[in-house]
Amino acid sequence: MASQYDYDLYVIGAGSGGVRASRMAAAAGKRVGICEDNRVGGTCVLRGCIPKKLLVYAAHYAHDYHDAVAYGWDPVSPAHDWKKLIDAKNAETSRLNGIYKFLLKDCDVHEARGRLLDAHTVQVGDQTFTAETILVATGGWPFVPDIPGKEYAITSNEALDLEWRPPRILIVGGGYIAVEFAGVFAGLGSKVEMIVRSKLLRGFDDDLASELDQALGRDGVKVNYGVNIVRIEKIAAGLRAHLDNGETIETDSIMYATGRYPSSRGIGLEEAGVKLGAGGEILVDEYSKTSVDNIYAIGDVTDRMNLTPVALHEAMCFLKTVFDGVPTAPIYQDIATAVFSTPPIGTVGLTEEEARAKYGKVDIYKSRFRPLKHTITKRDHFSFMKLIVDRATDKVLGAHMIGDDAAEIAQGLGIALKCGATKAQFDATIGIHPTAAEEFVTMRTKEPDPEDAVAKAAE
Ligand code: NDP
Repeated sequence: MASQYDYDLYVIGAGSGGVRASRMAAAAGKRVGICEDNRVGGTCVLRGCIPKKLLVYAAHYAHDYHDAVAYGWDPVSPAHDWKKLIDAKNAETSRLNGIYKFLLKDCDVHEARGRLLDAHTVQVGDQTFTAETILVATGGWPFVPDIPGKEYAITSNEALDLEWRPPRILIVGGGYIAVEFAGVFAGLGSKVEMIVRSKLLRGFDDDLASELDQALGRDGVKVNYGVNIVRIEKIAAGLRAHLDNGETIETDSIMYATGRYPSSRGIGLEEAGVKLGAGGEILVDEYSKTSVDNIYAIGDVTDRMNLTPVALHEAMCFLKTVFDGVPTAPIYQDIATAVFSTPPIGTVGLTEEEARAKYGKVDIYKSRFRPLKHTITKRDHFSFMKLIVDRATDKVLGAHMIGDDAAEIAQGLGIALKCGATKAQFDATIGIHPTAAEEFVTMRTKEPDPEDAVAKAAE
């Protein structure tokens, strides 16, 4: 019997999660509509992961040119053409936008903002569609605190499209985006300062944050800890940030990377009965179902684990649950992730703090070394690795790295942790020589455990 609805599935938001869900549902024969009021592709493709990483590549050449001299290449002092980089980046994101559109060839794509009128009806521009199931995948948007002068500040959205590279930039925040852009601008020659109200990379293993702090310092980035901006003033020479300790910083550009909020307002969610959390995130159950039976939500708008591959995973679980009749909950454990700072970070599993809280006795293995490449360049550049092991079961609970190729290395570690690898199995793995990665299978010396020392003294 034909469905009473226009579509089996209507998706609001054509970012990574929405596109994945739509095209897979269409490939399975479902009638799918999808709307997007920006360009198809979403944050990752157009304003996030991809363009950001292209800029990170560009920034790394600054070090590469310098390092090459130690290897016998003639010194050069190349100038960098920011506009050329942004044009090349735009060409690539446009190409990807085209690919994403092609991926949706079997769906009806409506390039306008969608708004729920009720649990089964979506208004898109001046059209109205009904659907049996609705999926909200509207992502998130940068958050800028409400301070006087905030209109002079930019976010990662604008930073990726600046017409000129600011000679001085002040970056607010100490999370993923802040440290990644600090590396980009410092590498390309800007004088970078950061405002970090608490610590760098909260939620990551503390050793990674401390190593990154040192690396930023070596690259000339000044990190101002424990302060915040209370007002931004426009001055003839650029911008002046007034800090809460009474000091001021003059700069050419101020970029906020102070988190992102879920894009859940103004699309009729509450009117349709979809419940939101305190931060505006759509509340969902373990199968991504909202408080309304036929409305589901995935990706950043649910503020679970805001990473592209996780949104894709949530999309696949949603499809299995709704269209295959196999209730499938996304699994968030042991998801490897990377921060494309300079140098990059790769990490999977628990931090030392989390592991101690959850498992009590843990063994810690650390290794810090100057990579082979830099024995010749003599550059002050280090790699740091850390393994956290459950003493009772020998299971590796966390693997963390900061250093060249950390993001690439972490993917393999992710598989090992997913398989529940023990430290003995890491040790039984033969290393690849000479690499940095081999260090992960040759760490034999445990860090002294402060708790053991206390226990011994008490004997
Ligand atoms: P994060 O949540 O990672 O970090 C926000 C930072 O801003 C923290 O240092 C936080 O400090 C600080 N902050 C928050 N509010 C204020 C405020 N009012 N004033 C001053 N500082 C403030 O957010 P990002 O914007 O860096 O990234 C957003 C999300 O995007 C990430 O959570 C991540 O999921 C995703 N992302 C992933 C990437 C990757 O996979 N490589 C890259 C980029 C983004 P405090 O710690 O004190 O709260």
